[in-house]
Amino acid sequence: MRVAIVGAGIVGVFSAYELAADGHEVTVFERADAVAAGASFASGSVVAPALVGTGPTLGLDELAPRLAGLGYAGWAWRQRRAARAAGGRAGEARTRLLRLAEAGRDRLHALHAELRLDIERADGVLVLLRRDPDLKRARAAIKRLAELGVAFELLDAARAREHEPGLDEAAPLRAALRLPAGGVVNCRQFAHALRSHAQRLGVRWELGHAVRALRAGTPPAVVVDDAPRSFDAIVVAAGAEAAELLAPLGLRIALAPVWGHAITAPLREVDGIGLLGPRAALVDERHAVTIARLGRRVRVAGGAELGGGAEAMRDATLATLYAVLHDWFPGAAQLAQVQRWKGARAMLPDGLPLVGPAGPAGIWLNLGHGGGGWTLAAATARLLADGLGGRASAIDGRGLGVERLR
Ligand SMILES: Cc1cc2nc3c(=O)[nH]c(=O)nc-3n(C[C@H](O)[C@H](O)[C@H](O)COP(=O)(O)OP(=O)(O)OC[C@H]3O[C@@H](n4cnc5c(N)ncnc54)[C@H](O)[C@@H]3O)c2cc1C
Repeated sequence: MRVAIVGAGIVGVFSAYELAADGHEVTVFERADAVAAGASFASGSVVAPALVGTGPTLGLDELAPRLAGLGYAGWAWRQRRAARAAGGRAGEARTRLLRLAEAGRDRLHALHAELRLDIERADGVLVLLRRDPDLKRARAAIKRLAELGVAFELLDAARAREHEPGLDEAAPLRAALRLPAGGVVNCRQFAHALRSHAQRLGVRWELGHAVRALRAGTPPAVVVDDAPRSFDAIVVAAGAEAAELLAPLGLRIALAPVWGHAITAPLREVDGIGLLGPRAALVDERHAVTIARLGRRVRVAGGAELGGGAEAMRDATLATLYAVLHDWFPGAAQLAQVQRWKGARAMLPDGLPLVGPAGPAGIWLNLGHGGGGWTLAAATARLLADGLGGRASAIDGRGLGVERLR
C-alpha cells in the first residue's frame, strides 16, 4: 500500500519504520524541518512501563492537570469521570496501558539491539519517597505493581544511595521504589536514528511540509502545499494538533494539550569522581518530576498545565524543576548552560492512546499518547502496522479504537 503519515514525532517515526518494514511504500509529512520537533523533542526520556500504568501517584500518564486553562474545565471533568468509570487505579484501562507500555519497552529495546543504535541510555529507575506521607501515598500503587507481577524493590535510603551514589546525603529520603526494568533512552536521538533506518527501507521524509487538510475516501488524500495527494491510507500521528486536523471529517476527539517543561544541562565533572549527578532515572514522587541522565547531561521534566500555548513558559514550574534538581543533586549541573523547553502531552480524558481506523474511509489514527508516549510508541506503531496490514497483532489493542469515543 502507499501510506502517508502526518507527523514525524516519535509516534510517526516508529509508524513509518514498522509500515516500511512490512513492505508498504511510506511518505511522512512533517510541518517542522526535523523529526521529533514537537513533544518528542525534550521529553523526560524515561522508559518505565510501571510508571505509565500505575496511576496518579507514581504515574507519568495521569499527571492530574493542576491548572485547567480557559475552555478545559469540561475536559478535566471528563478525565475525573473516566478515572472513576474505569474503577480508578485498579481499572482495566490502566492495566491495558501498563501492558501496552511493557510491549512498547520490549519492542524499543529489541530495535535498539537489532539495529545497533548508538543512543544515550541508562538502566534503572528510582522513585524517591521523601517522607512518611509520600511512602503512604505510594502504597496503593506499590500493591498494584505486586498484583500485576511488575518487578520492583522497596529500598531504604542507604540501599537507594547505593544505586544512585550522587544523591545528596542531606536530602531527607524515607524510601525508594526501584524499577529495574525501566530506564532512560534519549527519545529524540532514537527518532533521528530510526529515521535513517526507515529511509533505508524506502521511507520518504517530506520535512517542512504541513498537511493543511485531510480528505477521506477511496483513495484518501492529504492536502500539502495547496495540492491534494492521494494515497491508499493516511495515518494521523500529529500529536496535540491531530484533533484540529480531524474535526472537518466529522471526528470530534477530546484531545487536550497537557503542557510540561524540561530543563537540560551539562553535568559537572570532578577529578577522581567523574561526572556528578544521576546514573540513570529518578522520579521525585512528591513533585511528579523526573530526573534523567542523558549521556553527559541531566534532564529534569515535569509540570502539568491543561490548555494554553507553547510560547509562554511557566516560571513556577521551572522553579520546581530547578528546586528538585538542587534538592537531590546540588551543584551537579552547569546551570549557566541550561536549555529550557515546553511541550504538550496530547491526552484523551481516559488516558489511553487512539490507534486504528478512524471511521472515514482510508484514515487511520495513532495519537493521544499522553505522558508515557515515548514508552508506548513502539507498541502502538506495531499495532497500527498490523491493523493496516489486516493481520492479527501480538499486541493487545482492545479498547484503543474510536468506538470508545461514541
Ligand atoms: C514535559 C514532558 C515530559 C515527558 N516525559 C516522558 C517520559 O519521561 N517518558 C515517556 O514515555 N513519555 C514522556 N512524555 C510524553 C512523550 O514525549 C509524548 O507522548 C510523545 O513524544 C508524543 O509523540 P507524538 O509523536 O505523538 O507527538 P509529537 O512529538 O508532538 O509529534 C507530532 C508531530 O506532528 C507534527 N504535525 C502536527 N500537525 C501537523 C500537520 N498538519 N502537518 C504536518 N505535521 C504536523 C508536529 O509538528 C509534530 O512534530 C513527556 C512529555 C512531556 C511534554
